[in-house]
Amino acid sequence: MYRVPRGTMDVLPADQPYWRHVLETAERLCRLYGYQRLDTPLFEDASLFQRSVGAGTDIVEKETYNFQDRSGELLTLRPEGTAPVCRAYLEHGMHALPQPIKLYYIAPCFRYERPQAGRYRQFYQWGYEAIGSMDPALDAEVVEIAWRLYQLLGITDLVVLLNSIGDPQCRPAYLKALVAYYSAHRGSLCRDCGVRLEKNPLRLLDCKEPQDQPLIQGAPRAVDYLCPECRGHHAQVEHYLALLGVPYQMEHRLVRGLDYYTKTVFEVVPRDGGSQNAIGAGGRYDGLIEELGGRPTPGIGFAAGIDRIILNLKRQGLTLRDGSRPQVYVAYLGDRAKDAALRLTAELRAEGLNTLLAFGDRSLRAQLRHANSTGAPYSLILGEDEVQAGEALLRRMEDGEQERVPLTHVAARLSQAVASQPGP
Ligand code: ATP
Ligand code: MG
Repeated sequence: MYRVPRGTMDVLPADQPYWRHVLETAERLCRLYGYQRLDTPLFEDASLFQRSVGAGTDIVEKETYNFQDRSGELLTLRPEGTAPVCRAYLEHGMHALPQPIKLYYIAPCFRYERPQAGRYRQFYQWGYEAIGSMDPALDAEVVEIAWRLYQLLGITDLVVLLNSIGDPQCRPAYLKALVAYYSAHRGSLCRDCGVRLEKNPLRLLDCKEPQDQPLIQGAPRAVDYLCPECRGHHAQVEHYLALLGVPYQMEHRLVRGLDYYTKTVFEVVPRDGGSQNAIGAGGRYDGLIEELGGRPTPGIGFAAGIDRIILNLKRQGLTLRDGSRPQVYVAYLGDRAKDAALRLTAELRAEGLNTLLAFGDRSLRAQLRHANSTGAPYSLILGEDEVQAGEALLRRMEDGEQERVPLTHVAARLSQAVASQPGP
C-alpha cells in the first residue's frame, strides 16, 4: 500500500470547509487592507533562499528540499514566502509604482522537518508583505491584520508577542553585550547554543531547550540597546498599536537571526503554548531587498501557518459542514429514462443547479438510498411512464412528498423549491 510521504497529508473533502473558511477570511482581510494577491512558482533558484533566509539558518541548513533539474540548475522548493515576493517585487520593477506595495500569498511551503502535530514537511502559509515604507504605522497595521484574522476566525487564547531587534547601527553593541553575558555561562549551554554563540548569537534567545530558559530570561534585552532612531520607531509602533486597540506583550526573546531583519518582530502564539507552536510570525526586513540586489528598500510582513490555524479551530471544537452537497439527485429506471435523465441532468446543471446523476442502473430503492446519503434535499425520478408523459417525479427527500412536473418546467420548479431551502 502506498501512503502519503512522511510529513505530508491529504486534505479530505470533510476538511475542505475548514480550509475554505480560513482562506476566505484571510482573503477578505487582505482586500480590507488593500493587499493584492501574488502567486509565485513552487520552486526558485536555490541561491535566492540562501541569500534571503540565510545560510546558517535552520531553514536553509537543515530544512530545504533542494534538487538539480536536468540542465543542472540548483533549485529549492519554496520553504517560505517572503523571498519570492521580494524577488517578484524586483523582477517586475514594482519600486517604480506608488509605495508601499502590498502583496499577499497563499502557498504551500516545504521544509524537511521532524513531523509532529502542527509541524509538517508540506504546509501552507498565508502571508502578506508591505514593501517600500518605513512608517511605524505600517508596522502597527501589519500586526493588526494578524490579530484581526484570529478575531474573525474566533480563535481565542492567543497573544501577540512583540519585540524590536534594532538595526545595523545599534545591533553590534547589543550583540556584544549578549556574547559577553553568554560567554560567562558557556559551560552550561546546550550544544546548539555553543554553536550559536560563535555563529549567530541573536539565535541564542530562540533556543527551545528547557535547560537554557533561565539564561534567556536573564539575558540583556535588545530594546535596552536601541539607537535613538530605532527607539523612536518602536515607541511609535506601540503608540499606534494602542490606538488601534491591538493587545500585545513585549517579549525580548523574540528575534530574527539575520542582519536584514530590523526593528519590529512579532509572533502570534497560544497563551499557554510557548513559542514552540507559533501560529504566525512577522517582522521588518529593511535590508532584504538590498541584499537581493535592489536599492535600499524597507519592508515588513507576516506569515501564518494555515495548518496550525485549522488545528486550533478544531481544538476549540468549531464544526463546519461541507457545503458541497448536491441540490438534486436524478434517478431513473430503464434505458429510455436513462437517456432522458442524462439530458435533464445537463439541463439542470446549465441552470446552475448542483445535480448528481445516478450511475450503474441500480434498483430505484438503491438509487433513493444513495440520494439520501448524499444529503440532496430533492430527487427527480424518471421511469418509462414519466418519459412517455414528458414528466418527472419531483420528490422531497425529507418527507417523501412527490409531485409530477412537466420536463420543460423541472428546472424552474426546482430552482424555486431549492431557493426556499435553508442554505447548505
Ligand atoms: P517554528 O519555530 O514553529 O519552527 P518558524 O519560525 O520556523 O516556526 P516561520 O518561518 O516564522 O516559522 O513561519 C511562519 C509560520 O509558518 C509559523 O508561525 C507556523 O505557523 C508556520 N510553520 C512553519 N513551519 C511549519 C511546519 N513545518 N508545519 C506547519 N506550519 C509551519
Ligand atoms: Mg521552524
